[in-house]
Amino acid sequence: MNLILMGPPGAGKGTQADTIKAAYPVPHISTGDMFREAVQQGTAMGLKAKSYMEQGQLVPDEVTIGIVEERLAQSDCQQGFLLDGFPRTIVQAEALDQVMKKLGGRIEAAINIAVPDEVLIQRTTGRVSCAACKTVYHTVFNPPAQAGVCDKCGGKLLQRSDDQEETARRRLEVYHQQTSPLLGYYQQRGILYSIDGDRAANQVFADIQEVLAGL
Ligand code: ADP
Ligand code: AMP
Repeated sequence: MNLILMGPPGAGKGTQADTIKAAYPVPHISTGDMFREAVQQGTAMGLKAKSYMEQGQLVPDEVTIGIVEERLAQSDCQQGFLLDGFPRTIVQAEALDQVMKKLGGRIEAAINIAVPDEVLIQRTTGRVSCAACKTVYHTVFNPPAQAGVCDKCGGKLLQRSDDQEETARRRLEVYHQQTSPLLGYYQQRGILYSIDGDRAANQVFADIQEVLAGL
């Protein structure tokens, strides 16, 4: 099962990916998580990505395509994968098609989680995640039992710097300009499934499950 989870920043891709991978055990490949880890570790790639991320801009295609191509060639992706946050440009989508051709597979579904812009801003600006185990919460919509502390491991909950309102709004603009054209790209290929993401996470997941069951 080779899947793409699409949707603007804050749509719930990471939240749904966690539930999907519990039901369908395939690797969850989030380019945002990969970049954040590289930044944290101070690798050469992290240094390249950092300034783009802080400004709410996309990391250049050649960097992003390279890390995804390398990741998809790993053996754990042979039985399928769940891409989250990639592709984000037409150039990335075309590169992914080439990679799939090389690997002898195909993308079966691009699942788009649609959420109105103002809800997205509420979601991103209220998002906090555990510094230790990375579990994601929302200060209002999905709060931890104790403010600032992870329910699962007791780790400290932190806000991403790119989730501050000004940068969150820029990321949304970038989404509308550079990423939303991908909906047409996958629609033309007959593999786009759009889901109303402005509902409780379990209702969104029920629709995703329906799509997956039909593949
Ligand atoms: P993305 O990976 O698409 O950027 P996340 O999964 O990190 O989005 O979700 C963004 C924020 O919104 C998080 O704080 C998360 O807890 C919250 N969230 C996710 N899905 C829902 C939902 N269906 N209803 C309300 N809040 C949600
Ligand atoms: P995300 O965690 O998906 O919200 O991504 C956080 C940031 O990482 C984005 O705002 C971009 O700067 C960068 N990023 C993640 N995925 C990509 C991608 N496919 N192409 C370019 N930049 C990306």
